[in-house]
Amino acid sequence: MKVKFLGVGEACDPEYHNTSILVETTTGHDQIMLDCGFTVPHSYFSLVPDADELNGLWISHFHGDHFFGTPLLLLRLHEMGRKKSFLILGQKKISEKITDVMEMAYPGFVEKLSFSIEFLEVEPGDAIETAGFRWRSAESEHSARNLAVRLEAEGKSLFYSGDGRMTDATRALANGCDLAIHEAFCLQGDMSGHGSVERCIDFSEKISVSHIALVHLGRENRAENAKTIREMISKVPGVHLFLPESGDEFQL
Ligand SMILES: [Zn+2]
Ligand SMILES: [Zn+2]
Repeated sequence: MKVKFLGVGEACDPEYHNTSILVETTTGHDQIMLDCGFTVPHSYFSLVPDADELNGLWISHFHGDHFFGTPLLLLRLHEMGRKKSFLILGQKKISEKITDVMEMAYPGFVEKLSFSIEFLEVEPGDAIETAGFRWRSAESEHSARNLAVRLEAEGKSLFYSGDGRMTDATRALANGCDLAIHEAFCLQGDMSGHGSVERCIDFSEKISVSHIALVHLGRENRAENAKTIREMISKVPGVHLFLPESGDEFQL
């Protein structure tokens, strides 16, 4: 399984695209995207010129920096002549939310798409196999209901938090993963509805995981503390914690 960080930023960061992860199986080349905020389609299409490459999209929650890029993603795939059906997965109401945001961005456009869209609700407790991956989810603590997701394929496993402070359920979901990608909005302590670098270090001590990538740092936190954070996380024993840049790749 291969991971590419299309973006590692929060909603307003002028330097980094919104957090979005492209995941691809090594042998089958099944490709899916995790979250698609305002700035993500530009990042994606600068890397992938093929309309049929992407199997589908996971939306962690309904905040703009995680799903408002979807209309542009679908518009561009249509312009590129995509024929293959496109899968969109997420929590309950995923179909209504995506249809609504499409209608606001490009009225009447959904009916004209050159391809069909399939929606699939994934809720905690479900274990679904589709698009080349096995999918499970758990609820974090965030200002909008957010589902963290665990993907498995080719004997490897990946956890992606979306937004939110970790919960017992998200810790259990991440346990045993090869790579956990977790938001770390703040440097230290507990902020309501968000993770922190310090809590991600605690998280690494409570679960079994080989690698943890910290993403979605608050823009001031990242700009002021990146060097300090790299020093903090380099000292944690038994796990590889890292701060990816947009465009970085990671092979599981
Ligand atoms: Zn966010
Ligand atoms: Zn959010």
